[in-house]
Amino acid sequence: MSWTISENSFWGPLDPAADAGYDEDRPKRKGFFTDTSICIGCKACEVACKEWNDVPADHFDMTATSYDNSHSLNANQWRHVAFIEQPKRLGDQDPGLRGTAGSVDLGMPAMGPQGSESPEDKPDFRWLMSSDVCKHCTHAACLDVCPTGSLFRTEFGTVVVQDDICNGCGYCVPACPYGVIERRKSPDGAKNVGIAQKCTLCYDRLDAGKVPACAQACPTQSIQYGDVEELRERANKRVETLHEAGVMDARLYGNDPHDGVGGAGAFFLLLDEPEVYGFPPDPVVTTKDLPAMFNRATAAAATLLAGAALAFLGRRG
Ligand code: SF4
Ligand code: SF4
Ligand code: SF4
Repeated sequence: MSWTISENSFWGPLDPAADAGYDEDRPKRKGFFTDTSICIGCKACEVACKEWNDVPADHFDMTATSYDNSHSLNANQWRHVAFIEQPKRLGDQDPGLRGTAGSVDLGMPAMGPQGSESPEDKPDFRWLMSSDVCKHCTHAACLDVCPTGSLFRTEFGTVVVQDDICNGCGYCVPACPYGVIERRKSPDGAKNVGIAQKCTLCYDRLDAGKVPACAQACPTQSIQYGDVEELRERANKRVETLHEAGVMDARLYGNDPHDGVGGAGAFFLLLDEPEVYGFPPDPVVTTKDLPAMFNRATAAAATLLAGAALAFLGRRG
């Protein structure tokens, strides 16, 4: 499928790299499909990201509300694995999750005595685990508001910060509808303190034809990297499979090019409402109304000037 390039680049479906001016020879848009139904919460993705990108290990402590110890995405956490504990029997209410194509047998004692299939033997709660990341939005407000050009669109359609150009103004921080990007504040002695930081979708690895570090490290293929259009098809099929297996809560988040950000380059399969995972249910690019605002401001300025000119001419007459 190919998108029609919109005249209004702040809204609607389009190919972001083409919109940014890359020519026909550009690579296909790259991104992530994160299938949370097969995440086991091992956090290998978090560790691999830190290792590859030299992101400091900072502020690790228990949240007191779950087994999560890395809290949220932030300047020092470019992948964040959420642990959500729900009062819902996994094996009882979502039997289809076990034994579907792509499912993972955790083999953990918490699933009940070994070999037992009895619902009574299963715990009366389930874990939802989900590895969050920058969405590499089709319409990225962080990039739209950056006054220095530090944030830029790559030939792969991703969004990257250039550390040596960012002046630390912080305009991008409130512009992101997902709360992803942040200026690094700590630890003392770390590189890029004061500079906006977030996932680069491992731009250097993509440039070398490699898979991003987090996807490479994921043992269950919960994080799948590839061409965004192909990933969207794969995600739709996975939801169909889960629905056929009785997991009716399975849904996609961020895959729709007609959503408020023109579709995310990194999208997710969830097993509950987005809010349960801490995602905004209906994100909208915060710069969507900028063209209309500029038009109104221009019209207001023109009206003022015309009024002033008329008053001046009237006085002279
Ligand atoms: S999720 Fe936020 S930081 Fe990432 S590209 Fe979109 S607006 Fe920018
Ligand atoms: S793509 Fe690279 S930078 Fe982004 S979260 Fe994964 S490992 Fe980190
Ligand atoms: S590496 Fe894969 S399975 Fe492990 S926490 Fe990350 S997404 Fe989940």
